[in-house]
Amino acid sequence: METTNLHAAMLCSPGMGHLIPVLELGKRLLTNHSLHVTILVVTTPASSGQAHLLLQTNTGPTQPNIIELPPVDISCLITPTTKVFTQLSIIMREARPAIRSALFNMDPQPTIFITDLFGTESFEIAEELRIPKYTYVPSTAWFTALASYCPMLDKEIAGQYVDRTEPLRIPGCRPVRPEDVVDPMLDRTDQQYYEYLRMGVEFSLSNGILLNTWEDLELEPDGLNTELLEWLEDQPGESVIFVSFGSGGTLSAEQITELAWGLELSQKRFIWVVRPPIDGHVDAAFFKSSDGPDDIHQDSNFLPDGFLARTHKVGMVVPMWAPQMRILSHPSVGAFLSHCGWNSTLESLTNGVPIVAWPLYAEQRMNAVVLTEELGVALRTEVLPTKKVVGRREVEKLVRSVMEEGKGMRERAKEVRESGKNALRKDGSSYNSLCELIRDCQNLLNSKDPSTST
Ligand code: UDP
Repeated sequence: METTNLHAAMLCSPGMGHLIPVLELGKRLLTNHSLHVTILVVTTPASSGQAHLLLQTNTGPTQPNIIELPPVDISCLITPTTKVFTQLSIIMREARPAIRSALFNMDPQPTIFITDLFGTESFEIAEELRIPKYTYVPSTAWFTALASYCPMLDKEIAGQYVDRTEPLRIPGCRPVRPEDVVDPMLDRTDQQYYEYLRMGVEFSLSNGILLNTWEDLELEPDGLNTELLEWLEDQPGESVIFVSFGSGGTLSAEQITELAWGLELSQKRFIWVVRPPIDGHVDAAFFKSSDGPDDIHQDSNFLPDGFLARTHKVGMVVPMWAPQMRILSHPSVGAFLSHCGWNSTLESLTNGVPIVAWPLYAEQRMNAVVLTEELGVALRTEVLPTKKVVGRREVEKLVRSVMEEGKGMRERAKEVRESGKNALRKDGSSYNSLCELIRDCQNLLNSKDPSTST
């Protein structure tokens, strides 16, 4: 394995539930990736014997360096009712001078700062050192998503979360039932709630977030997954068109009607991610992609009368959000009617799926040009959908064309998929670009002035 001169300084808050996973990550970075690793362990006068034992048994040349910081005594800053979450936040705040001095005195100088979730207030020290900063959340992606999104919920929702009858919707995640929320959300007047909100905001300041989980363990938590994916399994190869307008796209009431009729007239199989209409705002859902009806059968008055009943054998209408990557990678999917957001574009092309381009906002019109005029993997509407409602006959024609006559486009899309794979292979262009980036970082670090731009 290549050796690196990267030195990760890791920060660990008190508690075995933090120490164990931080140690494990440190060991992994050292043994599998040849990083130099130093772990700063914040302690309290009450730190457990178990913690000391663990630290003593994890010493030696093949282990990370451990620096135990002087115990932080917060007894005069708390009351008997102060919650553990608040106590941890205060301890980590009070420990900052010691953390600062340890980081500044480290030899060799750290080049990466990784803190567990309670240490994000020390990001400013990493900024002074001009090194990248990462949060390590030794918990689930779902928990991390809720914490990151809570500042938004705080603005949107009044009253106590626990008094709600509706679940809390988190973009891209399984909703959280009021009774299942994390402790800091149980009482919005308690200090721990404010500490939690701060933490959520600080997560987003990280250069990246590391989670102690893996993809298969937390399958895309969408309640419709099973039904939708089972349905896809039953469809013939490349027979389904997936219709979705990204995380933010919304259509007018008239456009939804025409699109619904167009899909029905085409007689093709489809999955359609539907959001209620909002006239005049094509990106209205951007900050709240998953807010809307949960059950399309109970709340579908914006769809043409009888549409769901007439199409139920050939189509799946999914409210608000669907597991797009899984859908696009499924062999039953033959085309994508897309707003051409760049993520959606890449997700389609890396699966060799041709596109009906329906640009709505941001740089999507330019993306549609690349797809149609440069790559030849997409069809476009005659007039921009933001300028004029695309009529049902045109939708029908586009859907039929991409599904029936799109052979050339599909082959081209598959060629693009192969070129993407090649770019990622060792010595491919994207792989080499990343190697170059790492070389650049190392050169900058060696120059002793990492702030110099190249
Ligand atoms: N996405 C998804 N399910 C949906 C809608 C969107 O998983 O129902 C994901 C999609 O896979 C993509 C991202 O959200 O990764 C949308 O990014 P894109 O750049 O395509 O569009 P934006 O939402 O930023 O306009």
